Amino acid sequence: MEDVTKLTMDKLVALCKNRGIIFQGSEIYGGMGNTWDYGPVGVEIKNNIKKTWWKRFVQESDNSFGVDAAILMNPRVWDASGHTTSFSDPKMDCRECKTRHRADNLIENYCAHHHIENIIPDKMTNEEMQNFIEKHKIACPVCGKHNFTPIRQFKLMFETRRGVTEDDTDKIYLRPETAQGEFVNFLNVQRSMRAKVPFGIAQIGKAFRNEITPGNFIFRTIEFEQMEHQLFCKECDDDKFYNEYKQKAWDYLVSIGIDADKLRFKDHDKLAHYAKNACDIQFLFPFGFSELNGIHNRTNYDLSRHQEFSGKNMQYLDPVTNEKYIPYVVEYSIGCDRLMLAVLCNAYREEKLDDGETRIVLALSPVLAPYKACVLPLVKKTHAETAHNLQKELSKYFMCDYDESGSIGKRYRREDEIGTPFAITVDDETLNNGTVTIRDRNTMEQITLKIDQVKDYILDKCKY
Ligand SMILES: [Zn+2]
Repeated sequence: MEDVTKLTMDKLVALCKNRGIIFQGSEIYGGMGNTWDYGPVGVEIKNNIKKTWWKRFVQESDNSFGVDAAILMNPRVWDASGHTTSFSDPKMDCRECKTRHRADNLIENYCAHHHIENIIPDKMTNEEMQNFIEKHKIACPVCGKHNFTPIRQFKLMFETRRGVTEDDTDKIYLRPETAQGEFVNFLNVQRSMRAKVPFGIAQIGKAFRNEITPGNFIFRTIEFEQMEHQLFCKECDDDKFYNEYKQKAWDYLVSIGIDADKLRFKDHDKLAHYAKNACDIQFLFPFGFSELNGIHNRTNYDLSRHQEFSGKNMQYLDPVTNEKYIPYVVEYSIGCDRLMLAVLCNAYREEKLDDGETRIVLALSPVLAPYKACVLPLVKKTHAETAHNLQKELSKYFMCDYDESGSIGKRYRREDEIGTPFAITVDDETLNNGTVTIRDRNTMEQITLKIDQVKDYILDKCKY
């Protein structure tokens, strides 16, 4: 067979829809911008991603503890974090075609196109950006005209209200990041778990951002799931842990099957005012290298801010030295949906087979595969009962599919497209000798096994 993979986002979106991986959100109503729903196959892959992440960063990590904090938090949290005042994008509307754009993106794209260096929109005021766009007559990327409204700050936090009155004091927010749930529980976790610095708090949870820019499928969505780990350490250890977590983040991605040659580190050009160090790991998506996860040295900024705004003492008392200090934080943050996209892009293959046919394969790491195996009766009439019983038994241990419709070749193709690593065929040999054949998704080679060896064989191949 020959690898003839030509991945485009359109092909991936189509495969995801046809094979129950990801659907457009609210599709029967025409969808809703930048929202997507995980289907029966996709939710399994996503859950497997979350399980591997949790295993690596909580279960197998010394002094790491998980939390699951509320999405709705006291609004003072967002005053302390700075989100209520500064979490917004500079937007302008095109008066000609009524589309909305980020001023900083317009400038970035213009500069990249015209080889203008040393312009960093993040460091410009709205007025400076406005003047730059006017001076260079930067055109609307949709209609090509230059007729924009003035820049307005567009808030990225979703607001909602609790209670029944339309009083401003009732305003609360859907959290724009999960990190604050870890910071506000620093004392609770430290005391209840008798944790000693350095220790970590991890969380997987939904976050919400009112993004209006096009999302590239599930790369950027208004509702997304974050996987975050905050490592609380002594100030003098911050560089050590920053470098350790850079490596740990990289190793994790490789451990779930991402090709290392599609990954690269990228230091941040501009640091947040409180950050000492920050970098991303980028993945080579079909639309180019883009951020997959971030590692940040946030210093003691977050806990200091919460001490200031809550009035609670956030200091840690070192039981050995009796030193009191507010710990530094090394943050590792990765978007689960974005990682899902990287996993799908990384696994997608088109192969030209020796018989001239082309097959699509999702060559997922077995640990991420939605179904670890499928059971296929060769002939429905004679083999279905035995096959069904086998599938029932295997389902006690892992997700196991069953398919009796269509030719065996068609059934293999369907399973290839959702990444099922092993196809178990029940035939006359099974009835006569108690053996089944197991086909490997990647090599398409088959082996014969006793039926009672199948479970352990597959569990061993899928362990993480
Ligand atoms: Zn326009």
